[in-house]
Amino acid sequence: MRPDYEVIVVGAGPAGCAAANYLARRGVDVALLEKAQVPGQRNVTGGVLYTDYLPGYSFEDAFPGFREEAPLERRIVSHEVVVLSEPRREDGKVSYTAGVISEDSFLSRLGVSGFSEGGREAYSVLRAKLDRWMAAKVLESGGAVVTYTSVSDLYMEDGRVRGVVTGSETVTCNLVIDASGVTSKLVERAGLRGPLTPEQTYHGVKHVFKLSPEKIEERLNLKQGEGRAIFYLGSVMKGVSGGGFLYTNKDTLSIGIVVSLDSFLEQSFEQVGEVAKPLDILEEIERHPAVAPLLEGAELAEYSAHNIPKGYKTMLKRPYTHGFLATGDSLGAFVKIGGLIDGMRRAVATGIMAAETYLRAAEKGDFSAGALSRYEELLGPIYRDVRRSGLNSLLTEGKIAYRLAPKLLTAIAGKRFEANPPQSAGTDSGDSIKKIQNLTGLLDYDEDKEYSHIKVDLEKASSQALKLWVPACPVNCYTLVLEKGVYASFRDLYLYNLRQLTSRGLDEGRARREALAETLRDIARARLNFDHVACVACGTCGVIGPSDIVLFDHERDGHGVRYRYG
Ligand SMILES: Cc1cc2nc3c(=O)[nH]c(=O)nc-3n(C[C@H](O)[C@H](O)[C@H](O)COP(=O)(O)OP(=O)(O)OC[C@H]3O[C@@H](n4cnc5c(N)ncnc54)[C@H](O)[C@@H]3O)c2cc1C
Ligand code: SF4
Repeated sequence: MRPDYEVIVVGAGPAGCAAANYLARRGVDVALLEKAQVPGQRNVTGGVLYTDYLPGYSFEDAFPGFREEAPLERRIVSHEVVVLSEPRREDGKVSYTAGVISEDSFLSRLGVSGFSEGGREAYSVLRAKLDRWMAAKVLESGGAVVTYTSVSDLYMEDGRVRGVVTGSETVTCNLVIDASGVTSKLVERAGLRGPLTPEQTYHGVKHVFKLSPEKIEERLNLKQGEGRAIFYLGSVMKGVSGGGFLYTNKDTLSIGIVVSLDSFLEQSFEQVGEVAKPLDILEEIERHPAVAPLLEGAELAEYSAHNIPKGYKTMLKRPYTHGFLATGDSLGAFVKIGGLIDGMRRAVATGIMAAETYLRAAEKGDFSAGALSRYEELLGPIYRDVRRSGLNSLLTEGKIAYRLAPKLLTAIAGKRFEANPPQSAGTDSGDSIKKIQNLTGLLDYDEDKEYSHIKVDLEKASSQALKLWVPACPVNCYTLVLEKGVYASFRDLYLYNLRQLTSRGLDEGRARREALAETLRDIARARLNFDHVACVACGTCGVIGPSDIVLFDHERDGHGVRYRYG
């Protein structure tokens, strides 16, 4: 029987739009299915987009005319790493340091910063605009773009993938190209890998601030239309493996962090009084005197969170099965080398490679695993990049890089700032709750009050000694409920306990020790509460799992957050 489409592509991010446009331009009957109402509404990137890549597999190859027509924000003319210290208190004064590793520095020439990987051309982008543009190109090329459609499963016949299941129907095809990103369930259903773990995942949170183009150019020393990419490292990260970024857009600044999820979880527990939520690390960067003047007077427009797969730990060894290919983040084709966060151009390259694999298989009408195995050969250069990023991670993601080296650098070459003591975050028990309520208040949701796409076994979850979903959830869907209050971070609970003990007259050292012990007991005995309404579908709680306690699945068609910047 004739299938409904020749190819179904799931997910209208860079990988999916590239695959669908490449096929549609060659006359293939292709449907691009996207869970958001408008492509891009569900997506977040840093984001600097590097246009150069393997000849034949770049943005320009997927979307001819890309440089002239795509909604690119600013051309990035300089990259630098800025090493930021935490505040140091001495003689009642607070000081900070910051040191810069520029593109032409010795360390960059050694390849440590990763800048040499970027190629000749880079642009800042915002995904709400970029993905909408790419999906419109698919339509122009004759492809079908079906939004408001969440794919819930693969449709199988005789052990072969023959299509997809959406909320309302089964749609058949010769080939499914999975481009549904880091939260892909389809690669699991296809039997290509199990659920991601915290060790395999980076977690990112981001703010977008509105600022006039003139102010952006004046503060960052740029000519009209030019942009800068700054990466932040150092003790400002509070021992969490990862870094920050600040990218200039036309009239906004994107500032965020990307951290190893396992490292964040470890620190949220080991440094209960210091590390509350990833957002707190981002705010620490924003308060640093080397950064704060850039944001002065800027209006916060968006808060977002999203995960990324660690390519070197997750890229599928076998990226295909009968009737199915995985691309982009669902394949694990993500690379981070030094400061360079670099997934979009590889997502596009894998989308084109999947499309080429289909064209070759269609010549013989054979969509079996054997016929699709050519895809693995095409992916050769990406496997090499991912392996290199694994080697680089030994240098740049280890404890030496994140703790010792930045301390040395700022001590030797840092510029010293004296400043007023920063507002101490987390000084009242409702702090994370209030702070994040203000941020989610900036977001627009198509709420689904009746159906939760995340299943939480609250009895089992409440009986766990360590409820790591609480610090990890960027929007407080998980809270600890105790007779002393409701807490959205371990630190808020610790600070409450500390205040109680101090008010009883205990000396500081003893109060801290006892507050820590009481906090750990409280976390273990607290009841867990879960409310999905503010969920931004980052997938983090599902990664923490385990699946018999927290099971993440996709929102129903079109529901969920609608980012305006992304
Ligand atoms: C904070 C942060 C900073 C980053 N910075 C950079 C950077 O500066 N430069 C860079 O190159 N990369 C960066 N990345 C990585 C980059 O964004 C990703 O590697 C890239 O977006 C992957 O593209 P993709 O098309 O594979 O997946 P995605 O962009 O995630 O697209 C997946 C699409 O599938 C849709 N979808 C998901 N599930 C379903 C379903 N079941 N049914 C239907 N549709 C579905 C989603 O809504 C989405 O549209 C960053 C990522 C983050 C989180
Ligand atoms: S509930 Fe889970 S998926 Fe939703 S925002 Fe929180 S951590 Fe992310």
